Amino acid sequence: MTPIELTRSPMVKAALRARWPQFVIRAIALAGFLFAILSGLIGTPVGNHNFSIVFVWIVWWALLMLIGVPFLGRGWCAICPIPMPGEWLQNGALLKPRGKGFGLKRKWPRRFRNIWLQNIAFTLLALFSAVVLTQPSVTGVVLLLFLIVALVTSLIFERRAFCRYLCPVGGFIGLYSQVAPVEVRVKDPAVCAAHTEKSCYTGSAAGYGCPWLVYPGTLTKNINCGLCLECLRTCTRDNVAFNLRSLGADLQPAAGRKLDETFKAFIMLGAALTYSAVMLGPWGALKSAAYSVGTPHWFVYALALLGLIYVILPGAFLIAVVLGRAGAKSKEPLKKSFNAFATALIPLGLMAWIAFSLSFVFASLSYLWPALSDPLGAGWNLFGTAHVAWQPYLMSSVPFLQAGVLSSGLGWACVTARRVAAEKQQGRGVTLQALPVMGFCFVITVGLMGLLIG
Ligand code: SF4
Ligand code: SF4
Repeated sequence: MTPIELTRSPMVKAALRARWPQFVIRAIALAGFLFAILSGLIGTPVGNHNFSIVFVWIVWWALLMLIGVPFLGRGWCAICPIPMPGEWLQNGALLKPRGKGFGLKRKWPRRFRNIWLQNIAFTLLALFSAVVLTQPSVTGVVLLLFLIVALVTSLIFERRAFCRYLCPVGGFIGLYSQVAPVEVRVKDPAVCAAHTEKSCYTGSAAGYGCPWLVYPGTLTKNINCGLCLECLRTCTRDNVAFNLRSLGADLQPAAGRKLDETFKAFIMLGAALTYSAVMLGPWGALKSAAYSVGTPHWFVYALALLGLIYVILPGAFLIAVVLGRAGAKSKEPLKKSFNAFATALIPLGLMAWIAFSLSFVFASLSYLWPALSDPLGAGWNLFGTAHVAWQPYLMSSVPFLQAGVLSSGLGWACVTARRVAAEKQQGRGVTLQALPVMGFCFVITVGLMGLLIG
């Protein structure tokens, strides 16, 4: 499908260029975020009754994984409150550029201009996730740490270095934002090439230079575009568009993928498998090992998780890629094939996370009503819903939904693998090269079906 330029409509363009709506939404999100920290630190230790657990790990997570990422990509990053305080200080302004602001505005070190640090941060979070997701005080501390690290990073480095290179949440949103049906792109790259000022990157009185350190003129994937819309405000040639496009438009061409992104895909796939086994599987010993942080059992669990993410999944996938190359007699460098075929793991992983999220979101959503009325577990009853009893929603439909989601993820991954092979081969070689990768995706899907539905 040819992208449809939504900003062709003057009303849509004016609404997207306006700063106030985005500011108000972010300010409300910041208030909610600060309240989540507070309730985590001083509210009831009972997770299911604490605002921080219910709103962050159930409501926010459901909105993010079931709607935000699949349909709006990095839409969350456009309204995320975490970098806000640091950005205000860095810019010395709440809205439009004004003055010089504060901070050293150093360049981010060249050797860390990748997402390995984000991968490590997400892995750390994954290792402790059982306690982070259930203990309000730990959630409070983690959220506070996010705010502090983002603030300090903004005062040392230029622009949104925290979002681009450190934030563990931003890392996986960026990976999966490639399937989203929205994008910011320039209308005509030739206009950019002839424009020496490049106000979209350098900034102007109308707005900031791209906070995500992206030059819109060469933007071809959503991974690093935070949908902040600054370039829509600063481009003096009216050459930036907000487009509606087909789902998964960034999954082709596969060229230019890097190893850090590939490993992000393995981390997300491994985490989805592990969380499904820990939270929904029948193994009590595994569950208790995941929760007993610091004990010998937990260290075994942590080693197993690290082994799955960094050795078993990449190793099995490498074997699949090598088999495919041998079958098709490919002469392409192995690393290039490995990264290119990992494109298939993006729809597979996103659908795995949606299927996993369906399980616990519908099972836990009813905790929202008491938490709304009594967010700190202090005996309040603000909206008269403090005593609404827990009940799972739609539980008879969830397994069918999950089966549909996982099957479509497998189908999408297979189509993507075939498309990657078709970029390299012709005729029978396409199927031969893609088949082992499709087999890998099939085994993962069957494993997830067993854990989530079986
Ligand atoms: S300001 Fe506009 S025309 Fe100039 S380089 Fe940026 S996007 Fe292209
Ligand atoms: S300035 Fe433009 S290219 Fe950069 S993050 Fe914002 S929307 Fe994306």
